[in-house]
Amino acid sequence: MTEAVLPETLVVGGGIGGLAAALCLAVRGGAVTLVERSKSFAEVGAGIQLAPNATRILRQLGVLEQILPVAVRPRRLVLADAIEGRELTSLELTDFPDRYGAPYLVLHRNDLLSALLEGCQRAGVSLHTDAHVTGLEDTGDGVVVTCADGREFRAQIAVGADGLHSRIRKLFTDDEPVNSGFVAYRGAVPMEQVERHADLRDVVAWLGPGLHLVQYPLRSGRMYNQVAVFRSQAYGRGEPDYGNPAELRAAFAGCSEHVRESLGTLSIDNRWPMLDRPPIAGWAYGRLALLGDAAHPMLQYLAQGACQALEDADALAAELADAGQAGRPPAEGLTAYAARRAPRANRVQRTARTWGEIWHVDGVAKLIRDELLQLRDVTDHKHVAWLYEESPPERSAS
Ligand SMILES: Cc1cc2nc3c(=O)[nH]c(=O)nc-3n(C[C@H](O)[C@H](O)[C@H](O)COP(=O)(O)OP(=O)(O)OC[C@H]3O[C@@H](n4cnc5c(N)ncnc54)[C@H](O)[C@@H]3O)c2cc1C
Repeated sequence: MTEAVLPETLVVGGGIGGLAAALCLAVRGGAVTLVERSKSFAEVGAGIQLAPNATRILRQLGVLEQILPVAVRPRRLVLADAIEGRELTSLELTDFPDRYGAPYLVLHRNDLLSALLEGCQRAGVSLHTDAHVTGLEDTGDGVVVTCADGREFRAQIAVGADGLHSRIRKLFTDDEPVNSGFVAYRGAVPMEQVERHADLRDVVAWLGPGLHLVQYPLRSGRMYNQVAVFRSQAYGRGEPDYGNPAELRAAFAGCSEHVRESLGTLSIDNRWPMLDRPPIAGWAYGRLALLGDAAHPMLQYLAQGACQALEDADALAAELADAGQAGRPPAEGLTAYAARRAPRANRVQRTARTWGEIWHVDGVAKLIRDELLQLRDVTDHKHVAWLYEESPPERSAS
């Protein structure tokens, strides 16, 4: 009889990261319990971009084939000037399967979450909603999670996939989210409502001083996703209602007609302050580890937060399986996971901040940026290859 090589695992948080981790462990034969504080598994009603570093993992999990019918394979990534309305540079995406071994996709967040959830159900993950974790203890020979309603869950190890405001992260560090002073509005609208512009099959980022608008198609081209982001002056002045719809409209008032008109169909019901945290390397301690935004919350400018969470999930299962097969304790598997993933995810976190600065420059810096972007060879992949290609994991020295 073969012994189970994976430890019983408790995952806290059922977002993209937590469900992906549960699925990666379960398909390798691990016994997984997942606890989510919400009453059901649901995502924001907006889109998500998934680069090949994520879609490769989804293919291994059998999730890619499920989302392909509702996803869109966009034609190009385009950077455009939000003020003058002209294209600055682009990257062809249609050859990504040949170049990076997997497609670049855009899809509705709920379509991805549903596919991960169904995968977890098929793989036998024990799923619990309405389970708000308030305590987690490493007892030396296992972990105990306590919920607000008094329920307790036990396992050999626990993974904190509880997002940007992670409670589990507090067991690792006393850092706090950093507010960048930018605010986002986002949502998807039926394609009929969309004002026509160049090519609706592209992912377009319209860049302006202190603002940008990202647009791309969803649900086989039946919907259009829009994300408008701007630097809130009211946040800088310490006003509590910073980033309200009036400030959104004022911020975009100097943009091209297309960009201004696009705001007319943008959902303004919810706004999100743009937060991240400083990178940390210590994601594993004893029988606990962090994953996804709980480990490496980042600004969204590289569209990599969820992609990195998927990389975490894959690496976590691989390192725990390696440790199990070698007869090493699960804690060593968690340490190996953190050592494998933290250098790369932290690099993405740092680069996302820099990328945001480049997107939002003004004055002379904007002139130089635009000139460089227009001179760029559109077949040059040097700024993105490190993110998308399959490469040996970067490991920390420890
Ligand atoms: C505007 C914007 C655009 C983005 N675009 C992209 C993109 O195009 N591509 C990309 O890859 N990434 C993108 N991201 C980033 C991506 O959304 C996140 O990195 C990703 O969703 C993180 O997933 P997660 O599972 O780690 O965390 P979350 O999605 O935050 O999930 C955490 C889960 O834990 C649960 N939870 C929290 N606390 C508890 C508790 N105490 N007990 C139980 N459950 C708990 C929550 O309810 C939640 O379900 C974007 C982000 C933003 C803000």
